[in-house]
Amino acid sequence: MSHKCFISFKTEDKVYKRCIQEDLKIDMIDKSLNTPINSTDEDYIMRKIREDYLSDSTVTIHLIGEYSAENSLFQDQSYIKRELQASLYNGKNNTKNGILGIVLPNMYDKIFKGSEVCSICGKSHDIVCINDSTVVKEFSYNYYIPKDGCSWSEEDRFCVLVKWNDFVKNPELYINKAYDKRFSTISKKTKVRP
Ligand SMILES: [Zn+2]
Repeated sequence: MSHKCFISFKTEDKVYKRCIQEDLKIDMIDKSLNTPINSTDEDYIMRKIREDYLSDSTVTIHLIGEYSAENSLFQDQSYIKRELQASLYNGKNNTKNGILGIVLPNMYDKIFKGSEVCSICGKSHDIVCINDSTVVKEFSYNYYIPKDGCSWSEEDRFCVLVKWNDFVKNPELYINKAYDKRFSTISKKTKVRP
């Protein structure tokens, strides 16, 4: 079965969003947060975004492009941050969404840096730069959830990460992976506002 998706993206990357919607025909809610919610009550803000934007989606697709980093200069990240926070929010009428991060082609070199032999365990680890220079904290924290040890396995992460080229070959596979994380043990360790 297919799971309804919400897409969190920067307007600069809207061609990819349109491709997901129109070419890949993913069942999705076509809304983006574009006005601030006027309240100081954090729970209210989260509930409101859930109700008015994320609605009955169960997976949030997050496009990772050149303008979506925590440290991006001259970028207002408040909307994508709020969208991810509301996605991670367990409310009265909803459970958190799974999060699928799609790395757009112009970010491959910045994020995937090959592999390196670890000086602690002697095994080879993939170097995946998910940090403030590539994504917002809401994504990086829930991708590299703090733990002991020198590396993260698939079970240690809540966010699912995929390259755009792999995603388009089999979108449902990755959407399902993100969806299934909602029932995994690691889903208890996510953070809404890291
Ligand atoms: Zn290691």
